[in-house]
Amino acid sequence: MQKIQNYINGELVAPVGGQYMDNIDPSRGKVYSLIPDSDEKDVEIAIKAAKAAFPSWSVTPKDVRAAYIMKIADLIDANLERLAKAESLDNGKPLHLSKTVDIPRAAANFRFYGTGIMHYSAQSHSMEDSAVNYTLRQPVGVAGCISPWNLPLYLFSWKIAPALAAGCTVVAKPSEVTPMTAYLLSELCIEAGLPKGVLNIVHGLGHKVGSAIVSHKDVPVISFTGGTKTGADIARVAAPMFKKMSLELGGKNPNIIFADCDYDKMLSTTMLSSFANQGQICLCGSRIFVERPIYEKFKNDFVEKTKKLVVGEPFGEKTKIGAVVSKPHQEKVLSYVELAKEEGGKVLCGGHKIVLEGEFENGYYIAPTIIEGLTYDCRTNQEEIFGPVVTIMPFDTEEEVLMYANSTIYGLASTVWTENLTRAHRVAQNLHTGIVWVNCWLLRDLRTPFGGVKSSGVGREGGFEAIEFFTEPKNVCIKLK
Ligand code: NAD
Repeated sequence: MQKIQNYINGELVAPVGGQYMDNIDPSRGKVYSLIPDSDEKDVEIAIKAAKAAFPSWSVTPKDVRAAYIMKIADLIDANLERLAKAESLDNGKPLHLSKTVDIPRAAANFRFYGTGIMHYSAQSHSMEDSAVNYTLRQPVGVAGCISPWNLPLYLFSWKIAPALAAGCTVVAKPSEVTPMTAYLLSELCIEAGLPKGVLNIVHGLGHKVGSAIVSHKDVPVISFTGGTKTGADIARVAAPMFKKMSLELGGKNPNIIFADCDYDKMLSTTMLSSFANQGQICLCGSRIFVERPIYEKFKNDFVEKTKKLVVGEPFGEKTKIGAVVSKPHQEKVLSYVELAKEEGGKVLCGGHKIVLEGEFENGYYIAPTIIEGLTYDCRTNQEEIFGPVVTIMPFDTEEEVLMYANSTIYGLASTVWTENLTRAHRVAQNLHTGIVWVNCWLLRDLRTPFGGVKSSGVGREGGFEAIEFFTEPKNVCIKLK
């Protein structure tokens, strides 16, 4: 069986302790490879390598750093098929999604920061004829980058690319649930000739490898994407050590539909914002609020379309909904359907496991689920479910729907559907989220700031914000007279 390796100091190596864990193919519920069960000894070696590589990488000219990063982007493109297949096998997501979103966006992230660093400039401030200030932007040091399982290579690259471009060296940990494409990336980095120690990838569990990275004195900057509870655990360790932190956490995003929307566009996009990637995108709109005049029509059309979504194995040509990522996750999502029923919700469609035939009979499939009849403040409407489960609810006024939308502890993203320009701007202003999509969803310009407010996180990724995050400003003031 294939054994994934750590990537440390430019080489693929086994974990020091020689221990491995099972890597499960969620579409079959079957072990298909082994993951290093690394510990703090592996992390120590990786950090040492990253620390040793830092002095040279941090002063490597930007165009040379950019050339390595662009080469990695090219290699991701050249390996699109292989990486997409690996991502779908590892994660359970439909192959067309890996091919058109995950892997191309991973390459785009490397390309964006490979070119972006060439255009990045710091500031200077003149005090008329008495003095001049200039602000250096110096790479912080060894960056710890920790990522989740839902968009494995895509979110991994979203951290690594700006860190490397900014001149940091990196110790990264992908999710132990979906490690395969991070491993394949390490092979591509070797092929790209990335200098040893610049990027190190240590596989293993969060409470062993992740926490060893977060608590290490030689890692002054942590970029984390994952659950809100894990983010709080990380902040508890990193904050008293005064580390720089970027935390991209959970969400419970509202999708607000006004009666004057472009109905067909809204309906087809709402299918995606509800169920793409089995609802396992932090940006999915899991609470759908519909203005009363179109509520019944929307309900009927949405349920009818949802019932037609083909749930199948990730490589099936007709598959729209693949497997959820793991058995515990499948159980967690279905437990929320039970909770919704206890809270008075009516399941309009789905709400159960799906058992496929033949070799996929043990995979983790869930029928896409729509629930109505819940109050905005019940647990089902307040807690993150992170699966193919949405609730729908009517509203009468803008004021009321804003109160519903803003009522959770989360504040990542929101979607608004209306053809009324003034209302679109007004509602966007009043939503407590870091991202607002009007008449679209998941449209991403890599220059824009990405991240949430409240319990959805601290800091922003994307654009020059990420380069600023991985650098420290240092002001130099020179007296002229
Ligand atoms: P998770 O928090 O369980 O794990 C994320 C990563 O953190 C994994 O690599 C894990 O091994 C590691 N980890 C776990 N405990 C750790 C610790 N104590 N110290 C350091 N690292 C530790 O999250 P998950 O289940 O992998 O991902 C799903 C969550 O991620 C959802 O809540 C989702 O909303 C969130 N998410 C947020 C965004 C965003 O941009 N805001 C994007 C994608 C996913």
